[in-house]
Amino acid sequence: MPELPEVESTRRQLAPHLEGAIIRSVSLGSPRVSRRNVRPDDIVDRLTNRRVDHVGRRGKFLTIEVADDLTWIIHLGMSGRISVVESDDSVALHTHMRVLTDRGAEIRLIDTRTFGFVAVLTPDELAADPISRLGRDAWLDLPSPSELGAALENRIAPIKALLLDQGLIAGLGNIYADEILFRAGLHPERRGGSLNQDEIERLHGSVRPVLETAITSNGTSLDDLAYLLPDGRAGEMLDQLAVYGSDGTPCPRCGSEIRRIVVRGRSAHFCPSCQPRGGGGR
Ligand SMILES: [Zn+2]
Repeated sequence: MPELPEVESTRRQLAPHLEGAIIRSVSLGSPRVSRRNVRPDDIVDRLTNRRVDHVGRRGKFLTIEVADDLTWIIHLGMSGRISVVESDDSVALHTHMRVLTDRGAEIRLIDTRTFGFVAVLTPDELAADPISRLGRDAWLDLPSPSELGAALENRIAPIKALLLDQGLIAGLGNIYADEILFRAGLHPERRGGSLNQDEIERLHGSVRPVLETAITSNGTSLDDLAYLLPDGRAGEMLDQLAVYGSDGTPCPRCGSEIRRIVVRGRSAHFCPSCQPRGGGGR
């Protein structure tokens, strides 16, 4: 599933194609993709002939500011990606949105499983949308160590699950939560409220370096290649992941075998030596 680094990498490639451009035409495929708008027809009506001001991101959502205070949201779901092509290029299977601008480029949303969606919202609709309840962005607006400590205080949920909670911090998913916990030397099942000051600082200090490496590498394209950059290239982070998907192979730090467990229904990959259950490891 595309996480913050994949969505940020997509945003960076998409912005030059959209910012300042006028949208000339919009077509939608599966009605499922427009389910988040009260009136799905609003998506086409509101975008057509409007100028795009800014391509932003909140957590795993692209938030594109369009003239007249409209916000065009794109969520890539489990398997979505954005493709920027010439308008006469052949249309891939599972293309759910096509947006032609006055610059000639066509922006397409391709999503085999259609867990993603697009929406175009007025300020009032945006305020009522779940996106407004997202926590602070893990890359742009990471809480300080003391704020993070306060948010984790008394929490009995495993730290892995808390990192995935988009209302707490927005943008982390399974891959980068595992990588952050490895870098911090924290077992994924540690209860949030059990972390001491030193551990909270290690956790805090691990978020941005992991995300920075991933963004610099244009994100992680797994073997299914569901995620690709808008220009069709693959992200190159896969080879640099320390633990995610590496169960059964040696830990890059200590050589112990990396394990996979299930935490609250999600897989978690970790090194039992570098991330001891009792804490205190490094
Ligand atoms: Zn290790």
